[in-house]
Amino acid sequence: MTTHPTPAQAPTPVRPADAIVVGGGIGGLANALALTRKGLHVRVLERAAEFGEVGAGLQIAPNCTRILDQWGLLDEVITLGVVPENLVMRDAVDGSELTRLDLGDARARYGSPYVVIHRSDLHGTLLRACQRAGVDLVTNVAVTAYEQGADSATVVHDRGRETARVVIAADGLHSVARKLVSDDQPVSSAYVAYRGAVPMGQVGQLDIALGDVVVYVGPKCHFVQYPLRGGEMFNQVAVFESPKALAGQEDWGTPDELDAAFDETCDNVRAGLPLMWRDKWWRMYDRDPIDEWVVGRVALTGDSAHPPLQYLAQGAVMAIEDAWVLSEHVGSQVAAGADGASLDWDTALAAYQAVRPEHCRRVLTTARAWGNLWHLTGDERLWRNDVMRSREVGDYSFVDWLYGATALAPEDEPPMFEPLDASASVPAGAPAVV
Ligand SMILES: Cc1cc2nc3c(=O)[nH]c(=O)nc-3n(C[C@H](O)[C@H](O)[C@H](O)COP(=O)(O)OP(=O)(O)OC[C@H]3O[C@@H](n4cnc5c(N)ncnc54)[C@H](O)[C@@H]3O)c2cc1C
Repeated sequence: MTTHPTPAQAPTPVRPADAIVVGGGIGGLANALALTRKGLHVRVLERAAEFGEVGAGLQIAPNCTRILDQWGLLDEVITLGVVPENLVMRDAVDGSELTRLDLGDARARYGSPYVVIHRSDLHGTLLRACQRAGVDLVTNVAVTAYEQGADSATVVHDRGRETARVVIAADGLHSVARKLVSDDQPVSSAYVAYRGAVPMGQVGQLDIALGDVVVYVGPKCHFVQYPLRGGEMFNQVAVFESPKALAGQEDWGTPDELDAAFDETCDNVRAGLPLMWRDKWWRMYDRDPIDEWVVGRVALTGDSAHPPLQYLAQGAVMAIEDAWVLSEHVGSQVAAGADGASLDWDTALAAYQAVRPEHCRRVLTTARAWGNLWHLTGDERLWRNDVMRSREVGDYSFVDWLYGATALAPEDEPPMFEPLDASASVPAGAPAVV
């Protein structure tokens, strides 16, 4: 890996890059690895001084682990993570179980496991795979602008400029590249997340199911718990709506708001709160879906293209799917004899553009609706609980469209689930569950 402590000129590429990837998060590294596996020379430009990830746990569903398996990384990911037995939803006020997904059953249905893993472990797995594959990994380079050529794109950065036949922009929520296709801004949900991943020895007093991912859904809040690192760590996420954000105050999401938000929740939830990290928190933003991710030879991927609210746990998953889809379209040309110099990028990018934005639009809009459903109050909460309790345990219609095989072409995109029947029992004002 090439690292430079001072902002001099960026290091000369080991060999000319067929593709430049901007951003070395999970999305950027996944793209770099996937294209390198197809025989391309890829250079990653990362703004930070080191490659890494801040945060705690990540849930990765079968539509992601299937791809990691194809890349030869699933065994490592399982070793570093945990394969949970169930996804359990509980009411955060009374603690009662609302519904569950048997993840053993789901593994049989989708042919790949549901895994929970520390995000630095997933990022580290991808980074090591990139290093083994020979990806040119460069840190301390902040890309500030993009220019189009006839058959190429150029990135302008704080240490120079570089050109390749294609540039993949994986620069996250505040993407510079996204400005090429949209002048939109991140959308604040007024919700904030606290995280905490602690050694298992610290959670002895909690009443927890060690094999499960549990989400407690409550009035304008929810609370997630699951084990990490082979059961050595325990991960918790507390999410709530910030009154200060709604009032337009700058300092929103502070720890006093955390404590107040969970006042009415059950003992199990409140017992977990003291273990949250209280010195940092994450304000929850997404963006409206956009239809165009490709302009000339620049393509958006990951959060730069489709940052979601995290309620479906599909943000990193979608980024890895993006990488797989683009690389499969590249791979079909490589199989027919193309190489990095002769590849028809316009065709590959068009195939990517044809299928991914619609899938991710569905995820983004459903994640917003799913969050609304989780956070209902009063009578609407009771209605939500009835709906959840009435779900048949073997009914996968709400997740088949997510966890099934990733579509390579629009005609392979699975149908969405049927919206819930908004019958007379639904209280006025309850959101449509789309
Ligand atoms: C609380 C929470 C829980 C979540 N849980 C899940 C989950 O369970 N499952 C799941 O799949 N997803 C989850 N997500 C979403 C997931 O974390 C993101 O969708 C994913 O990490 C996005 O990866 P990315 O590589 O696209 O972007 P990022 O992780 O933002 O990476 C962008 C990279 O680009 C670099 N960069 C930025 N600008 C520049 C520039 N100008 N020049 C060079 N480099 C630049 C940054 O330094 C960074 O390394 C969660 C998110 C949150 C907030």
